[in-house]
Amino acid sequence: MSENPSEVETETTIAADADSALAALPVVVIKKRRALPFFSRHPWVFTGAIARVEGDPAAGAEVQVVTDRGEFIARGLFNPHSNIRVRLYSWRADCAVDETFLSERLDAALALRRDVLDRNQPESACRLVASEADGLSGLTVDRYGKWLVLQLTSFALAERRDVIVRLLKEKLSPAGILLRTEKGIRDAEGLQLSDGLLEGEAPPSPMFIEEFGVQYGLDLLQGQKTGFYLDQRDNRAAFAKYTAGRSVLDLFCYTGGFGLSAMVNGGARGVLGADASEAALKIAQANAELNGVADRMAFEKGDAFRVLDRLREEGQQFGAVVLDPPKMARHRSAVPSALKGYAQLNRAAMELLSPNGILVTCSCSGLVSRADFEAALAKAAIDAGRNLQILETRGPAADHPASVFCPENHYLDCYICRVE
Ligand code: SAH
Repeated sequence: MSENPSEVETETTIAADADSALAALPVVVIKKRRALPFFSRHPWVFTGAIARVEGDPAAGAEVQVVTDRGEFIARGLFNPHSNIRVRLYSWRADCAVDETFLSERLDAALALRRDVLDRNQPESACRLVASEADGLSGLTVDRYGKWLVLQLTSFALAERRDVIVRLLKEKLSPAGILLRTEKGIRDAEGLQLSDGLLEGEAPPSPMFIEEFGVQYGLDLLQGQKTGFYLDQRDNRAAFAKYTAGRSVLDLFCYTGGFGLSAMVNGGARGVLGADASEAALKIAQANAELNGVADRMAFEKGDAFRVLDRLREEGQQFGAVVLDPPKMARHRSAVPSALKGYAQLNRAAMELLSPNGILVTCSCSGLVSRADFEAALAKAAIDAGRNLQILETRGPAADHPASVFCPENHYLDCYICRVE
């Protein structure tokens, strides 16, 4: 507390201004006994938790969220088009969700990657902002060398994209900033966004990055997600520790990541990569050439289950198999069939593994818990008549942190196993 009367007066005035700014916000009232998750900092307020909305907020407007007794919980941004009716950002009554707030959250996110994770090398790529995990629900920013790729998954932040682009430009001076929008998000959030260049110059296609000594060509505009699966970076590197002298089957290989890591850093004997996407395989082939290992890498276009069937019929065996399928469950109702799918896929993979082979098996279905995934692996091992030991239980790389307040964004599990 200040001793100086004029400072006391200033502080009081600021507090009064903050109070009246808060009071001017539309109010979202949470149903009785439904407020605990939001006091516990879960950032998504679904329609079902809302008793009523007072003050007719426009789409994207800032609102205050309160209990049924009028007690302040948090400040958030409103979207009448989405099931996530309010995304919460600030749990302080006096801290508005404005440009200063966005700037501070961005600074905190950038500082993690720069100062803690040391991911600032010019040719490298990393996730700079990871939505809920960085307190910016609905914003993802990936850096690929000198370019930034933005994904906006909330209407309110999409509306503020000019501010976000300006802030990123000021803080990072990128060569260009691109927008990529995930499938389904336009409908879910009522977004009207067109993908492409938002700022600066377009990246070359392919553009190149390096990851632990492996060179990758990428297509930032047409490639899947924002061009690359950055979340698997450390898992690709971890796999290479197990691959000396082994033949590798890399299923769902996309642009060749796990296989290239095994060839370039892990001394693997050879790799067969398979994926359903022709465009991805073209880049994978080019990447094999770029790294000088194309003579020992082959790629096949096809459905993973069919590829597994054919290889079994031919009696082929591998020293290591990687399974990195796309998300299998988008809704809770799809979890049982996803678990069946994982069990079948893993069984078929184990049947192709030579004794004491290495299995890398991943799930990026956030709705599938680790316990359920491990149960699916156990079933697969029994059906295949093999013993499976989990050597490493892994998640995404640290530039994809997880929010302790939002379990839904713990989405990637990666197990490295030995199959006797
Ligand atoms: N392991 C990769 C990322 C894989 S992402 C990496 O490290 O970069 C999942 C991949 O599965 C995508 O490339 C997608 O094209 C592919 N895919 C989706 N369905 C498939 C199917 N039924 N059979 C084979 N590949 C499939």
